[in-house]
Amino acid sequence: MRLELVDQGPVNARYLVHLDDGAQVEAVRYRGDTLCLSSQVGCAVACPFCASGANGLQRPLTEAELHYQVEAVEAAGTEPLRRLTLSGVGEPLHAHAATRPFLDWARARGLGTSLTTSGGPLPRLREWLHAPHNGLTLSCHAGTEATRARLVPKGPPLGELFATLGEELPRMTNKRRKKTALAYLVLAGANDADAEVDAFLERAVPLGLRVHLYGYNPVPTSTHRGPAPERFDAIEDRMREAGARVVRSSKARRRPNGGCGTLVALRRG
Ligand code: SF4
Repeated sequence: MRLELVDQGPVNARYLVHLDDGAQVEAVRYRGDTLCLSSQVGCAVACPFCASGANGLQRPLTEAELHYQVEAVEAAGTEPLRRLTLSGVGEPLHAHAATRPFLDWARARGLGTSLTTSGGPLPRLREWLHAPHNGLTLSCHAGTEATRARLVPKGPPLGELFATLGEELPRMTNKRRKKTALAYLVLAGANDADAEVDAFLERAVPLGLRVHLYGYNPVPTSTHRGPAPERFDAIEDRMREAGARVVRSSKARRRPNGGCGTLVALRRG
């Protein structure tokens, strides 16, 4: 395996990870001490706004390939990593055989690991909600089933996802509950209508979880666009007024070289 620095910015460093079979994935070091790493070569969830899944899924990464991303990026920098997030290319719950033991491997090294997931398969989600992660963010991006099916085509439907959360949250410790969040990526004309946002809030607010409101980073594989800044602000206000605890994505993640959904995977050959 080999690590290649492809973009060094003032806040983020973006790397291409050359795997031994010729496939490539990307990883981003945020603010010096946080690594966003990939869990699969491609992704089967097929979200139309995301570059990572644009070519479908080739394969999940192995545990060794996950460890390599941490060790190689750390060795390439000047300060130790403190946090990891399985939020790069791939659906971490689909790569469960490697990502679940990885959580324990990282923890033994003092590295808390968070993850972003579209939520499926639901039996795995149940297990991961109770796992010793440092934060689990569920990508929803919709309030109605029709929009969910368009934006997260191979993720579980919202009804099943929220029913699972409704069953598991009361069984979780307070600490686990505080580390669980929902995500809503705002896309112009796709999920930014008041009715869509209200349908999401109807499901989300009773759970009391934080809501990460994401701005969109355009990618060449998608025609989706983010909303005008004032529409984004209006959605944030609407969510807050409805009682949601809203958090905007960090500045580091909004930068072009670190943006969520922009990391790519290249198949071998
Ligand atoms: S947003 Fe996440 S789940 Fe959806 S295609 Fe991209 S990597 Fe896969």
